[in-house]
Amino acid sequence: MNIKALELTEVWHRYGENLAVKDLSLSLYEGEVVCLLGPSGCGKSTALRIAAGLEMVQQGAVELDEVIVSSPSFHIPAEDRNVGLVFQDYALFPHLTVIDNVKFGLKRDRSGTSESIALAALEMVNMETFSSKYPHMLSGGEQQRVAIARALAPRPKVMLLDEPYSGLDARLRENIRDEVLHLLRGQGCATLMVTHDAEEAMFMADNIIVMDEGSIIQVGSPDELYFEPVNSFVAGVFGELNKLDGLVNGDKLITPLVELPAQGLASGTKVEVVVRPEALHLSSLKGPDVCFEASVIESRLLGRMSYIHLSSDSRQRAGENIHLHCKIPGRVLPSKGECVRVYIDLEQTFIFERN
Ligand code: ADP
Repeated sequence: MNIKALELTEVWHRYGENLAVKDLSLSLYEGEVVCLLGPSGCGKSTALRIAAGLEMVQQGAVELDEVIVSSPSFHIPAEDRNVGLVFQDYALFPHLTVIDNVKFGLKRDRSGTSESIALAALEMVNMETFSSKYPHMLSGGEQQRVAIARALAPRPKVMLLDEPYSGLDARLRENIRDEVLHLLRGQGCATLMVTHDAEEAMFMADNIIVMDEGSIIQVGSPDELYFEPVNSFVAGVFGELNKLDGLVNGDKLITPLVELPAQGLASGTKVEVVVRPEALHLSSLKGPDVCFEASVIESRLLGRMSYIHLSSDSRQRAGENIHLHCKIPGRVLPSKGECVRVYIDLEQTFIFERN
């Protein structure tokens, strides 16, 4: 049976008047990687700090290995929990060498083997040759590797990572997150990671918890959240969206650009239709109903994708133009002013009832 390595139950947290976390419950199982994802200020770091024991629990409870470690009346300090912590700013001790930084986390090791354990941890992150250097002699990526080795050296059951790669440049970030994912898997650590970067969350996580304003909005695998978002906020966490108003009329959903299937919604229902830029495909051929004509305003190559700004006339209001963004894999750069036919991929189009 799967063991719950970490559990937060009905946690609320205030900073003065500011309610930072509202009724948060989450479970993390052995070997699982879970990401807390959401915009800045939504309460992710507070939740992580509560899980770590760096913040006292005001209401609710935290359990590690199914034993309570924090409640309003009881608190085991962070350093007495078998939890590895890695933050954005590395937090290495500047006056200690790399190896002594890693050994610091093993301070209660009485077997005299801390040197070899620390070296083994440095080997895991390919930093063993730096062991006698000081943090200021290392690059950001190297310091973060040491911070990860320090956190992993005591073989924690739970790792808590707060934006661990955000201080690194894009290329390095991709390399390190790949290495860290394999390390965490190799060690079987249950990992809770805070990030505001959806791609990073999708890269790392078995499950993602999307938060907004202190509350959990949706929990699911990357695939579930991307293809079955519960609202436009969750859809928007994974990137920019085109938004259209819609009204259900019989079995059709009428929008200013196209008619879509009403998907069982009652006639008269007002909806918001959100369409990912990746859901728009261009073609010169005339095809089925879910397509409309548009003219090209700008085309840009973004590397692996082409990004096209389109304008289309509203079918509902004369003189109104609707501006859309379209992302297509590869090099597809129609010229400014060109008239194109645009298809909507319904798999990446979501319909939400308006309140
Ligand atoms: P996130 O990690 O999602 O960016 P945080 O958990 O850091 O969000 O912050 C949640 C809310 O709590 C924000 O409104 C933030 O300003 C506030 N906050 C965070 N830390 C403190 C603190 N130490 N004192 C007062 N307010 C704080």
